[in-house]
Amino acid sequence: MRGRDEMHHGIGMTSQRTRERLIQRLHEEGIADSRVLDVIRRIPRHLFVDEALAHRAYENTALPIGNNQTISQPWMVARMSELLLAAGPLDKVLEIGTGSGYQTAVLAQLVERVFSVERIKVLQDRAKERLQALSLRNVVFRWGDGWEGWQALAPYNGIIVTAVAADVPQALLDQLAPGGRMVIPVGAGELQQLLLIIREEDGSFTRHPLGAVRFVPLLNGPLA
Ligand code: SAH
Repeated sequence: MRGRDEMHHGIGMTSQRTRERLIQRLHEEGIADSRVLDVIRRIPRHLFVDEALAHRAYENTALPIGNNQTISQPWMVARMSELLLAAGPLDKVLEIGTGSGYQTAVLAQLVERVFSVERIKVLQDRAKERLQALSLRNVVFRWGDGWEGWQALAPYNGIIVTAVAADVPQALLDQLAPGGRMVIPVGAGELQQLLLIIREEDGSFTRHPLGAVRFVPLLNGPLA
């Protein structure tokens, strides 16, 4: 008979086997960067969702995290991470839309430092607690409006945006270092696509469209 502890500590839906199935699926669906897959294999995604949803944490799906927001689909987290990393190691990455902190936790293990901006205070507070619990200390959080980026600490070698707007915020383009990479969804309603924007050494930008995606909107202003 299975003990109570086993039920609660990962013999069930959060077990290593369940996680391994997710990794297998991400791999089959085109995620090739083994560093990214290894990090996702290790991170307990069930700690980033409400307990009532923990049994679904290793499905390849977005899930609600309150305040009308969602934790991104693991495939999307993996894809955006590998796109950011594809040209070599990154020392400073700006993230817009901390949300649950899951993408933040993945990045924290792949780059030197992450600067993460979130407009909803309660989400930010919870994300902070989760990263502390996982001893991820190379992340700095800011409660603010992602449309403005984080000017004081710019430029960044990588920028990742996990909410969608009709256009790329100008501040984010300005804060991308020459040689830097930005991964950002752009569009409206059903018509959104993922863009990889590379800032060339001469300061110009090259945009690579990377297919249809679905994100929650990038809204305006901080919210207590
Ligand atoms: N990567 C997150 C995704 C969260 S959803 C995760 O996996 O959990 C997108 C997040 O962007 C939400 O938390 C939302 O509050 C935030 N957001 C939306 N507009 C924003 C803005 N202007 N500035 C900062 N964060 C914003």
